[in-house]
Amino acid sequence: MPPLDLMIVTDLDGTFLDHHDYSFDAARPMLDRLRADGVPVVFCSSKTRVEITELQARTGLDGHAFVAENGAVVVAPHGFALAGASDGDLERLHDDLDHIRTSLDLGFSTFSAVTDQVVADWTGLDLGAAGAARAREASEVLLWHAEDDDRAQEFRAALAVAGLDLVRGGRFWHVLPAGRDKGAAIRMLVADHERRTGTVPLTIGLGDGPNDTALLDAVDLAVVVRGHGPAPGPLADDRPERVHRTTDPGPQGWTEGLTHHLSHFRTPSVRSHR
Ligand SMILES: [Mg+2]
Repeated sequence: MPPLDLMIVTDLDGTFLDHHDYSFDAARPMLDRLRADGVPVVFCSSKTRVEITELQARTGLDGHAFVAENGAVVVAPHGFALAGASDGDLERLHDDLDHIRTSLDLGFSTFSAVTDQVVADWTGLDLGAAGAARAREASEVLLWHAEDDDRAQEFRAALAVAGLDLVRGGRFWHVLPAGRDKGAAIRMLVADHERRTGTVPLTIGLGDGPNDTALLDAVDLAVVVRGHGPAPGPLADDRPERVHRTTDPGPQGWTEGLTHHLSHFRTPSVRSHR
């Protein structure tokens, strides 16, 4: 049997990073093992390119593929852009949002319309980190207290007409081009990997929140890391041999889930579950 071609795709906040202090110490031994084996570890997050490449540098994953802004930015190994914004796209997104906010009388604030200091106050990040979080290329972050689900539905419908999608994160909402979720991003990276290497990798995905549902649906083997808020799902294929739910949260759960799946990864039947 040839060596198994693996690709790990992981959410960051609450999954690879601790929900409270953003540490990844508990994930280090497993990460070192994956790096030593040459396994790609793809960060897939609502964070920006600036935030993700900084974390890649701290984890020794420079040059690995990544997905930023919830799927709006997709970068193949060595920085080759697979998806992102063209000139004028972000301005158009901001204009459409302004128009919809006025016509529906919605009371949200956006990262682009405020300063680094305001984002630092909203998030608890320091000024530099707030600047990195504001460095959006293809999406917008909203601070919005939806009065009720009907308003969110109304908002979503108006965005859809403009070719945009609304994704709920933890505290914030994200607006990005329609059809560009984490799942579509993973399919792009798998196709790119196949084009370059001639093989389709076995993918293992990890996430802890509702905005990871598309990620967990797009991979061969899924890890639902125990979170602090609403869980991902429902998943299209929730069989226990495909989906492992961890006991531990954050980077402990990250290690637990990968250990679980990797201990079975020579099982020949795994690939037939696609
Ligand atoms: Mg998360």
